[in-house]
Amino acid sequence: MRSFTGARGGMQTLTNRKRVVSVVMMALMSAANICAQDSATTGKTTEKNAAPASARETTKKQQDTPPQTSRVEANSAEQVSTEQYTLSHERYEKAVAYSRAGYTLYFFYYFLGAIVLFLILRLGVAAKFRDIAENVSDKRWIQALVFVPLLFLTIDLLDLPVSIYWHALSRRYEQSIQGWGSWLSDWMKREFLRMGFAFVIILILFAVMRRSPRRWWLYFWFPTVLILLGLIVVTPLVIDPMFNKFEPLNKRYPDLVASIEKLTEHAGVPIPAEQMFLMMASEKTNAINAYVTGLGASKRVVIWDTTLQKTSRDEALFIVGHELGHYVLGHVRRGFFMGAAGLLFALYFLFRGLQWALDRWGKDWKIRGQEDWAAFVVLLLLLQMLLFCSSPVINGLSRMEEHAADIYGLEVIHGLVPNSEEVAAHAFQILGELDLSDPNPPEFITFWLYSHPPLADRLVFAHTYDPWAKGESPKYVK
Ligand SMILES: [Zn+2]
Repeated sequence: MRSFTGARGGMQTLTNRKRVVSVVMMALMSAANICAQDSATTGKTTEKNAAPASARETTKKQQDTPPQTSRVEANSAEQVSTEQYTLSHERYEKAVAYSRAGYTLYFFYYFLGAIVLFLILRLGVAAKFRDIAENVSDKRWIQALVFVPLLFLTIDLLDLPVSIYWHALSRRYEQSIQGWGSWLSDWMKREFLRMGFAFVIILILFAVMRRSPRRWWLYFWFPTVLILLGLIVVTPLVIDPMFNKFEPLNKRYPDLVASIEKLTEHAGVPIPAEQMFLMMASEKTNAINAYVTGLGASKRVVIWDTTLQKTSRDEALFIVGHELGHYVLGHVRRGFFMGAAGLLFALYFLFRGLQWALDRWGKDWKIRGQEDWAAFVVLLLLLQMLLFCSSPVINGLSRMEEHAADIYGLEVIHGLVPNSEEVAAHAFQILGELDLSDPNPPEFITFWLYSHPPLADRLVFAHTYDPWAKGESPKYVK
């Protein structure tokens, strides 16, 4: 999905992407994630909160506090304006501490995940699970029905402490307000989804492998692309409502829908009111966000209720404008095509990697060949490594799209919203405060983890983007 705010790189990305599932599951999920959603801000999706009441005050207060974040010199004589992302001392410390914890956990989580998979192979646990499955029945599908839950519950229970720690941290930093019971119930739902999905994938994969031991990577690609497409279409309709409540935006905010319609007329691309939804995020989080998701009949713009509670109407319009950018520029569709291409590459890599690993360690791990259920764990490990290494590429592409959507948002509200650059810049300021965006992320972290440009850069860009004054033609909205 394309959202307004991204996982500031850290754990949020993980929580989405890394909810690893099965070989392709993981790739599919990450691909679906890449394509389907898009948040407007920085990249986080899970939790960030901030003392909501104080948001405005802090913003005003920032005038007395020396800016701690600034990267750009103030541009002279403007009135009171949001030229830089600035935080009060207390929020600055929190934003830095919370962000750093997220980065650290991200790397740690990947590392831990790889170690867990490696140990499952090395200690013969994978082979053991295969034996159990094969002893239960001669039918392949029943074997898979035993093998998949054994494997996934083991992996996910070993990962669970890290997830718990992250949730505790988000609660401590007042990002998440989700209670443990609700959190656990979400975890279990995801677990069921993941296992169900893995079951389907593994059955198809092994059937294809047996039929075509040397070409399975190609033949398996076709069903996975279909599944990916199906996921993008179905997720907003079936899976998202399992975790959050949605309602038509029209129901509570008809005036906002009317304003959005003006925006879309301005853009020349009307979006029907039925494709705009409100998500009740406030039950679980203090963070603000919005995203575009779905394809075909499920294509939609979704705004978190927190966003509308904590920003001014004009600021919300800018955030919606950013989402319209993704919608109009076809980022979800493009994400699908890139995901499909990436999948083909990934499957070929898995094919070669599996041969290589089994030649070397197959005996040690008691794996008989690629058709052995236990070989699935090798695929998971390889996929994990591939996903990790492709993170800079995926995020680099995402940052380009996010920047384009920012430009679109700025252009689409220009002329409709008074003082639109300031409105946009201030929207980023609010977002940063509430979501505790890192004021100054290390360059390497941005390169590796950020699905959105750093907030401070986005804010400064918004504040200074003005092709109209220079007599240039705007890029997207003429
Ligand atoms: Zn976006």
